[in-house]
Amino acid sequence: MNKFEIVMGLEVHIELATKHKIFCRCKNTFAEASNRNVCPVCLGLPGALPVLNPEVLSCAVRMGLALQGEIDRNSRFDRKNYFYPDNATAYQITQFYAPIVRGGQVEIRTEDGTASTIRIHEMHMEDDAGKLTHAPEERISLVDFNRKGVPLLEIVTEPDFRTADEVIAFLEKIRMFAMYLGISDGKLHEGSMRADVNLSLRKHGDETLGVRTEMKNLNSFTSIRRAVAYEADRQARLLDAGKAIVFETRRFDEADGTTKVMRTKEEIMDYRYFPEPDLLPVHLPEERIRSLEAQMPEFREEKAARYMRELSLTQEEAQILTRHPATAHLFEETLRLWADGEPTPTEGTRRKAKTIAARMCGDLMYLCREKKADPGTWKITPEAFATLLRMQEDGEITTKTARDVFAILFDKNLDPMVYVNENHLLITKDEDALAAAVDAVLKAQEPSVSDYLSGKEKAAGHLLGCVMKATNGQADPQAARKLLLKKLAQLKAENETTE
Ligand code: ADP
Ligand code: MG
Ligand code: ZN
Repeated sequence: MNKFEIVMGLEVHIELATKHKIFCRCKNTFAEASNRNVCPVCLGLPGALPVLNPEVLSCAVRMGLALQGEIDRNSRFDRKNYFYPDNATAYQITQFYAPIVRGGQVEIRTEDGTASTIRIHEMHMEDDAGKLTHAPEERISLVDFNRKGVPLLEIVTEPDFRTADEVIAFLEKIRMFAMYLGISDGKLHEGSMRADVNLSLRKHGDETLGVRTEMKNLNSFTSIRRAVAYEADRQARLLDAGKAIVFETRRFDEADGTTKVMRTKEEIMDYRYFPEPDLLPVHLPEERIRSLEAQMPEFREEKAARYMRELSLTQEEAQILTRHPATAHLFEETLRLWADGEPTPTEGTRRKAKTIAARMCGDLMYLCREKKADPGTWKITPEAFATLLRMQEDGEITTKTARDVFAILFDKNLDPMVYVNENHLLITKDEDALAAAVDAVLKAQEPSVSDYLSGKEKAAGHLLGCVMKATNGQADPQAARKLLLKKLAQLKAENETTE
């Protein structure tokens, strides 16, 4: 194996989360039942004519810009002919001769910090096929056309990958582009993003490329890693034994971690591509591209760098807060509302950013894990979050109350002010009530009191906790602490005089 260098190129499909399908007005949403989101166009009924959904075009241009590619202002659609039961039209509409994006490049950094550049060959728009479900016991197959006509972007790279780590870093970056552009959730395991890996070997130093195989059915980063390792090893053994690699498509088998032949070159069809006669060429005015360019979002890496530079967050905090655009949005909006017009990099905003980051990297991420909730599915709004933080800052509620209410707002859309009032969580200035609570605790917690008196100062923390609990979190923690220590000091003095 060490004799050889691995060479890989990717074909990545991204399912777009547009309102409608690519060539008809059918909804592009999850449907409870099969064959609900269908119409004559996506069912391929005779005489039905496709029309390009302009939303798909915007998504394509924006992704093309993220890939730093050349946007073709006159791209065209072509017909790729093949019959398969999940495809009622007996052809796929794709872009073969004149794709919307040519060239481009993506800078990647693998986990161990190695940077490299992946060149993009091209990117095009096309429609997805339907879905087959096989029921072998009943000897039938069911077809669902809900997915037929769902818009896809296909990104084809140059053969610039040398390791599985690079492949994963690239896919992660594309996923971030898609999420920050808001064009797809990019979930590999749910099929919103699919990657085929083309792999060949060559001797170190060789210029020419070896014969490749194409691997499909890679549903997770783990699968990709396993498939690459297995396939590189398989090819190395063949080459070592003086055998030739067969150019073929192979399917990764999750169960045993091997790749198996799906179709060989002889079976790879001649698709008889020809210009799609039912669609006009796509004309993109220069101004339209420029206006889409002007609205490009700040992507993950720039955002994380800015959080560290302007707000003094740690690298870890910046990474966590930018892993999903919904998390970054909650962070930025809450800071904007709480800081209320303060210019960004001041001591004050930095301190506030730090407080928000701490609560989000701690409590929010914990709640997401605990409830298996995706970022952005939470009910908490920047307004509610900022209100809580302001109440905490003004000494109206304790930090503990702020955190407890935050956890409640995760699932419920409530006004924190109303919630705090209704549940009597505001800090009270009632000194008699506080004194009574302290006395009661000192009486009830005899052992901790003697611990304290015999020099174990830590016991005071426990006693303070009891006081806060006894007042239902409503005591002012500063006042409670002061009073508790005062009474303990009195007890100590009494103790010493009686000894
Ligand atoms: P096709 O359209 O037949 O699948 P392409 O020429 O478009 O073929 O290549 C598909 C992918 O395979 C691209 O990502 C490309 O970089 C990659 N590729 C092409 N040749 C090789 C090779 N010899 N080894 C590894 N990857 C390759
Ligand atoms: Mg291919
Ligand atoms: Zn339709």
